[in-house]
Amino acid sequence: MEFKGTPLDTKDFEKVFKVEWKSKLEYEWDCGIALTKFFEGLKQGKILARKCYSCNRVLIPPRMFCEICFRPTDEWILLKDEGEILTFSVSYVNWDASRREEPEIPAVIRLDGASENIGILHKIGEAGDSLEEILKNIDIGVRVKAVWKKEHEREGAITDILYFKPIKRRK
Ligand SMILES: [Zn+2]
Repeated sequence: MEFKGTPLDTKDFEKVFKVEWKSKLEYEWDCGIALTKFFEGLKQGKILARKCYSCNRVLIPPRMFCEICFRPTDEWILLKDEGEILTFSVSYVNWDASRREEPEIPAVIRLDGASENIGILHKIGEAGDSLEEILKNIDIGVRVKAVWKKEHEREGAITDILYFKPIKRRK
């Protein structure tokens, strides 16, 4: 395919005005009230959600504001570390588009006690080695349970849960 216009060669690029600049990308980010409490909870092995008394939804990850009712949420709710797979993917591609030997299984999981169709994004583990085996063990609706890091290794991050493992095999 030929494009209209004048192509530049390497010499032309030397004529172009350029600025050399070393970026300093240090920053601080505040999680806010809801996520700070959520991450502190994870460190203790607890999964905390927020409930809105107006629409009765239980929001996870927690939010201090209900975007449907347009009002503050009302109560902290402790969820079980079990739930079901809402959707998932078996990925053989890394974030940089390189190929993976072992698949990664990202999934959206609805925890018990959370509202319908409200899920958290995490990974599935202990589901098998081959694609065939994985697809035998997991599916939408399959029950899963969190596998936590050891208590002294937790740091108040979503990775304090290593992955979710299937607890009920598909029929
Ligand atoms: Zn609401």
